[in-house]
Amino acid sequence: TLGTEWATDWVRASAAVIAENRVELITLDREIGDGDHGENMDRGFSAVLAKLDGLADDAIPADVLKLVATTLISTVGGASGPLFGTAYLKAAGAVAGRAELDGASVAAILRAARDGIVLRGKAEAGDKTMIDAWNPAVEAADAAHANGASELEILEAAATAAAEGAASTEPLIARKGRASYLGERAIGHRDPGAQSTLLLLRAAADSAR
Ligand code: ADP
Ligand code: MG
Ligand code: MG
Repeated sequence: TLGTEWATDWVRASAAVIAENRVELITLDREIGDGDHGENMDRGFSAVLAKLDGLADDAIPADVLKLVATTLISTVGGASGPLFGTAYLKAAGAVAGRAELDGASVAAILRAARDGIVLRGKAEAGDKTMIDAWNPAVEAADAAHANGASELEILEAAATAAAEGAASTEPLIARKGRASYLGERAIGHRDPGAQSTLLLLRAAADSAR
């Protein structure tokens, strides 16, 4: 099972990978948005990182996820703040009260996160948003869990599927968010939120090793 150490490692790995890819996320968002996605995400996860030491000694994974949620909502401007904030808030709710997360809990975190983003942003599959990375990740996690996979294997399956999902946004026309104003000019560009989703889910898997 995975515990609070995994959750805090996930935050640290997320902050690191977002910082490393800040420029890439800015570039992607410059092509089909307003160019701030890398800034937004880096500001948010830097703020989470700064608050991590303030967690109680007896914090459980849900406390970590809730800290991420409230911090992203209050520090990230733009569409992605409330969307990722809601994702982490719903994820926290899915594992409330649990000190140790088994495969079912890990799959439940991903499903609740995705459902939260859909609830908030109303994007559907193929709208060229972060949902196009989240949907295949949730499906892969559920399939892995149904096959008796370990927590690490579930997170690996989700990260691999998210990477394919992020790539799948490239040929699409956007129907949500700023990129939707571009019509066919969005074709050939990857959605920045789908790219940050793959980075966060890759960090989740790497932190479970
Ligand atoms: P903004 O567009 O306000 O500048 P960001 O650049 O931080 O915010 O985030 C843009 C990302 O948000 C997009 O790449 C897309 O993945 C995601 N996004 C935008 N609107 C929605 C929505 N309605 N549902 C899901 N994701 C969305
Ligand atoms: Mg933007
Ligand atoms: Mg913006």
